[in-house]
Amino acid sequence: ADVIRLEGICKSYNVGLPTETEVLHGIDLALHEGEFVALMGPSGSGKSTLLNIVGLLDRPTSGTLFINGEDTTELGDAAITTLRGRAIGFVFQYHYLISAFTAHENVVMPMLLDRGHPDAAMERRADELLDWVGLSRWRDHKATNISGGQQQRVAIARALAMDPSLVLADEPTGNLDSVSADAVFELMRRINRDRGTSFLIVTHNLDLAQRCDRIVEVVDGRISGRVIPTLDAR
Ligand code: ADP
Ligand code: ADP
Repeated sequence: ADVIRLEGICKSYNVGLPTETEVLHGIDLALHEGEFVALMGPSGSGKSTLLNIVGLLDRPTSGTLFINGEDTTELGDAAITTLRGRAIGFVFQYHYLISAFTAHENVVMPMLLDRGHPDAAMERRADELLDWVGLSRWRDHKATNISGGQQQRVAIARALAMDPSLVLADEPTGNLDSVSADAVFELMRRINRDRGTSFLIVTHNLDLAQRCDRIVEVVDGRISGRVIPTLDAR
């Protein structure tokens, strides 16, 4: 089954204004369940725009997006918000943790937003996830008092809180030194292998991209179709 499927996705900014520009020109793309895919391409080619559409943060101008087989085109804003919260986890270049909260509180947050009230199960689940990313002993530290690599691992634990089928990561290692970048990448790889979570990762790092199942390249708002070999291609 496909976690996501895009058919003829176009995106224009400033629709109806003299500055209207189309930046995605009919993207067809599918990610299979459990795939770990790198999204590469020059700056300005449309990677972030594509990620925002796949992540239901922005709507395409035309075309169809399926998430876990469900056509999202006709869904209203409330249904989109619920689907986004449950099906998709996000990891950004900057972690966007809440700095006044502890690592544990940051991981609880998505579950609290979904349910509306705290319960013991979410507390336990946050502990499990922190254990999973190797940060149990930093549980009660404020997000600002841990290293950049650790913050990114908390962000990954938070992204997994709702057990999404897909994690979207926009340059998740872009701010890290190469040792931390490697650790964060390997963590995502392990989550993919052990939990079957699919990943779509924007990266400029070819070494990391080549450790993905597949590399998709965007050039000028189109999938280039160029085959860039990877090391672990399945
Ligand atoms: P990438 O992530 O590959 O660098 P983006 O998706 O950020 O590319 O940008 C693709 C193109 O769309 C660029 O020309 C960018 O300037 C333009 N763009 C991105 N966001 C907006 C926006 N909110 N309004 C207008 N133009 C935008
Ligand atoms: P990235 O590093 O992902 O390519 P950018 O630095 O290009 O991101 O853009 C940062 C943010 O600004 C993005 O959310 C993008 O959508 C927005 N943006 C980019 N270009 C434009 C633009 N021409 N007009 C308005 N917003 C833009």
